[in-house]
Amino acid sequence: MLQNMKLAVLMCAQKMIADRLVTGTSGNVSCIDRDQGLLAITPSGVDYDAMQVSDISVVDLKGVHHSGGIPSTETPLHLAIYRKRGDVATIVHTHSMYATSFAVLGKPILAIHYMVAALGGNHIPVTPKYALFGTDDLAQQVIATLSTQYRGTLVRNHGVVTIGETVQETYKLAVIVEEMAELYFHASSLGTPHILSAGAMDKVRCSLKKYGQVSRTGGKTASSDIN
Ligand SMILES: [Zn+2]
Repeated sequence: MLQNMKLAVLMCAQKMIADRLVTGTSGNVSCIDRDQGLLAITPSGVDYDAMQVSDISVVDLKGVHHSGGIPSTETPLHLAIYRKRGDVATIVHTHSMYATSFAVLGKPILAIHYMVAALGGNHIPVTPKYALFGTDDLAQQVIATLSTQYRGTLVRNHGVVTIGETVQETYKLAVIVEEMAELYFHASSLGTPHILSAGAMDKVRCSLKKYGQVSRTGGKTASSDIN
């Protein structure tokens, strides 16, 4: 189980840099085995291209380092989310360009497209205040936003956090956040985007659940290419 988790974290981290959701050593990925009380998380300061399974850090819910490389500087953020949200099994954190641009403005991503509903609400929220990376203050800002129905948030002047039940699902949510931000940017450059109503978004969520694309309990994968 632990080895599978480490492999999943590694593969997701390498996909994240290949898809340009992060650059250098920024961003991080984790997943948790709640039975063992252990999480696998990307290490600090290791290039994704050179990262090996043995580099993936294993820490417990108190943050005690068990094996692998030095845990990500954002480990306190991941621990805080896992403690607050018992339904969360994986976390992906990116600095993707378009989404982070909205985070810099402190501007949520409104319902410019129906797939915004995959993130759980009628918009993709942004944390209320800026906080320094790696701090408990940052963790508090993020869990304050994610303590409700949302499955992802913009992190003010920083990046994106998505949460889910599988690494694949959570990664796809991070991709959707970036796609929605890019779409919002381009649409806004052409005119004033039409924002879908709360009623329209409720219907989208019902349909997505029906097709198992954003099920919280079914363990199915969110998709950016639902027609
Ligand atoms: Zn970061």
